[in-house]
Amino acid sequence: MLELALEQISMAQVAADKSAALQLLADHLVADGLVAPGYLQGLQDREQQGSTFLGQGIAIPHGTPQTRDQVHTTGVRLMQFPEGVDWGDGQIVYLAIGIAATSDEHLRLLQLLTRALGEDDLGPSLCAARTPEDLLKLLQGAPQELALDAQMISLGLSVEDFEELVWRGARLLRKADCVNNGFAAILQQVEALPLGDGLWWLHSEQTVKRPGLAFVTPDKPLRYLGQPLTGLFCLASLGEAHQALLERLCALLIEGRGQELGQATNSRTVLQALGGQVPPEWPAAQIVLANAHGLHARPAKALAQLAKGFDGEIRVRVLESAETAVSAKSLSKLLSLGARRGQTLEFVAEPSIASDALPALLAAVEQGLGEQVEPLAAVPAAAPVLQAATPLSVAAPSAGAVIAAVAASPGIALGPAHVQVTPTFDYPQQGQSPAAERERLHNALAQVRDELGQLIQRSQAKAISEIFVTHQEMLDDPELSAEVLRCLDSGASAAAAWDGVIESAASRQEALNDALLAERAADLRDVGRRVLGHLCGVRQVAEPQQPYVLVIDEVGPSDVARLDPQRVAGILTARGGATAHSAIVARALGITALVGAGEQVLLIEPGTPLLLDAQRGRLTVAPDQAVVQRALDERDAREQRLKAAFAARFEPAQTRDGHRVEVCANIGDSSGTPAAVEQGAEGIGLLRTELLFMAHDQAPDEATQELEYRRVLDDLGGRALVVRTLDVGGDKPLPYWPIDKEENPFLGVRGIRLTLQRPQIMEAQLRALLRAADNRALRIMFPMVGSVEEWRQGRDMVERLRREIPVSDLQVGIMVEVPSAALLAPVLAQEVDFFSVGTNDLTQYALAIDRGHPTLSAQADGLHPAVLQLIDMTVKAAHAQGKWVGVCGELAADPLAVPVLVGLGVDELSVAARSIAEVKACVRELSLSSAQALAREALKASSATHVRTLVEAL
Ligand code: PEP
Ligand code: MG
Repeated sequence: MLELALEQISMAQVAADKSAALQLLADHLVADGLVAPGYLQGLQDREQQGSTFLGQGIAIPHGTPQTRDQVHTTGVRLMQFPEGVDWGDGQIVYLAIGIAATSDEHLRLLQLLTRALGEDDLGPSLCAARTPEDLLKLLQGAPQELALDAQMISLGLSVEDFEELVWRGARLLRKADCVNNGFAAILQQVEALPLGDGLWWLHSEQTVKRPGLAFVTPDKPLRYLGQPLTGLFCLASLGEAHQALLERLCALLIEGRGQELGQATNSRTVLQALGGQVPPEWPAAQIVLANAHGLHARPAKALAQLAKGFDGEIRVRVLESAETAVSAKSLSKLLSLGARRGQTLEFVAEPSIASDALPALLAAVEQGLGEQVEPLAAVPAAAPVLQAATPLSVAAPSAGAVIAAVAASPGIALGPAHVQVTPTFDYPQQGQSPAAERERLHNALAQVRDELGQLIQRSQAKAISEIFVTHQEMLDDPELSAEVLRCLDSGASAAAAWDGVIESAASRQEALNDALLAERAADLRDVGRRVLGHLCGVRQVAEPQQPYVLVIDEVGPSDVARLDPQRVAGILTARGGATAHSAIVARALGITALVGAGEQVLLIEPGTPLLLDAQRGRLTVAPDQAVVQRALDERDAREQRLKAAFAARFEPAQTRDGHRVEVCANIGDSSGTPAAVEQGAEGIGLLRTELLFMAHDQAPDEATQELEYRRVLDDLGGRALVVRTLDVGGDKPLPYWPIDKEENPFLGVRGIRLTLQRPQIMEAQLRALLRAADNRALRIMFPMVGSVEEWRQGRDMVERLRREIPVSDLQVGIMVEVPSAALLAPVLAQEVDFFSVGTNDLTQYALAIDRGHPTLSAQADGLHPAVLQLIDMTVKAAHAQGKWVGVCGELAADPLAVPVLVGLGVDELSVAARSIAEVKACVRELSLSSAQALAREALKASSATHVRTLVEAL
């Protein structure tokens, strides 16, 4: 690692020109054994490519990637040239820092130097320095500033006592890289100082790396050493850095304003009071840096130049670092960020220039700032990306902020934010009197009954009104009431009694290890919160009247299913990915959805206008009129395109050179067939039969199933039906079918593994299917097949039943969702009638990313070349045996994936009914030959992003 040290410095050197200076440096590096003589060529070549002059009389000569093999050991050597050396363009260098490094270690050096570079006029001092000590002091720059920004403040923490609060404060300092590990233990030994007004102070100099102050408050009033505790300052003390802050804090306490800090509900208030770095409420945008060597001098120069072209302030910071934002117009400050490939840059710009500056900056960074960049493998699409695991301590995104997220359901949606976060309730344990508490409870229950009544009336869907009827029944449960009354009689407050009884009833139900009862426990807690809300005066935020954007941490498939598409314009989640089942439901309902936008979105003020662009995967918070107009224009244009596609929905999907691709529908609900046909479906490519099983309180019997399957075939009017046998387990438990708890359910008993363990269920389903067929085109496939034996067991069962219930037009195949099935495709293809590739699971298993992972699933992109290789193998193996291949995962509906899949030779695409017309239109725009050429390129690509770039360039 590069560090600056006295022994590296050679004072009073003389060089006639730059080339002589480079020669001197190279000789020195060689003599010290850092590099081989060939490195001089690298130093010279690098200067040819662009000057290494940094400013302030300093240059940082270093080699080129081609001369990295000349480096023996990473290190630096500093040479002072008091008479100066002309480094070209009249730039005079007094200090040359020769770097020997095999990678981008020089970024670290730049970071070390940048405090010095921030000084106004360092050149004369560098030339006047007499000793290495003087020089080093100059380079190390001004005393360090106290770190105090929004990341250092955490309010309303759920902690039990003083020790826990200390630990949380120390953790903030550790995260900000102010202290080493062990600082918490040191603080626990220090005597705390009471400041009055419930505020306490702790500080230590031990293990401090840079000065910083953290401020933490508990979520409820605590006491420490007999005094109130409403807030705690933890100072990592180094030199005098905290002096000004301390003076300000004393003044605040003398003015009697200490309580403001203990009661503050947002970090801004605290920062304003203490004079910390108040983040400007400016529009922000983020993008991941892809430059191989990070933000080194050349790209930083390009960035600074671009930023200087805008007449207003632009600041930038590295999201993953604790450092505060710097001016994007200052080269030295940009270098001080030490930003590396893969890190996220966050730009904020003055509102007057933001709408022009931010997109231009993002585009420039995306294009590599003058360098060739290899797109990052780990990001979805070429869009700017927010690190999904943003801690909740981040501030709410400000007006105009642009946040990247995963587009889970297409469209452009606009509406006020309806933020649903679980509220926290504060209440006394003891009540006033049993009579008074009974009355309070009685009133709260009456209000909730009223609310539920209104909700039942408003609900159009029966399934939704039934949920609220159940909630009403729960409110009136005599056993619950009796238990609550007993608690009231023993002196508890209404809220404490109610909360305690509901929670223990819910926990009892959960402990029974029965999925249905566990769901009831969630309902019980839901209705419990409604009542508590009334008792504690915490109002649930009312649903906006106009169509709104639901902002939520994570949604389950059933949560989405409960939504009314008329009222919900869009869904925005903090976590989740595009192939999670909730995203699939959103697509089916036609609700625009962005997922995995990071936890900061949960801090958005309710009612804030939000613009979801699920075409590009971007959220804009409180967009200005121009942005809204652009989005609306785009929405109109998209609607026009879709309208044209819709008009041609019954036409076949045929490429310009006459190649036919079948486009079918994925359905879950057996009543969905007429709608699918009406959207242009040429058949059903995937009937997810588990939804039929989930809709019943116990496994539907053979007759019930037959009726449902018959209905689908009837509605298809001769078109083919591909049915998947029951696929539960993993993230799809069946309430009445308890499965032993598994560490990794996705790698456990799911799909065909499960049904083979319950042959009577599988047999009933197969019988029902065969009986329903009546010689119509029936295709049966097994999910999650991973071995030839599994396939054969399933097939044998069908063959046996078929002898009993003959069907003329039957094909039996498998879903290719497990990489082993794709790898075994040449063997399987000899026996199956067809393959249908389930890219959702295939991607999760090939890339080892849980498709519902809160932060990683965004990277589970089915266009990853590794997944495409598996599809390619499957298609080749199938076609060699004259069998057909479909794709029924979400990838099939992605307009950027369609050309690649067609090029790979996929015969059928099965997508949500709403996507059929669009997918058909995509196919019609292609020619088979160009799609095949594209597919060949895609198979050779290095990442999903790379593939997407190839398709976009088509
Ligand atoms: C798939 O895995 O791609 C698939 C279609 O099945 P499901 O999403 O239902 O697991
Ligand atoms: Mg699957």
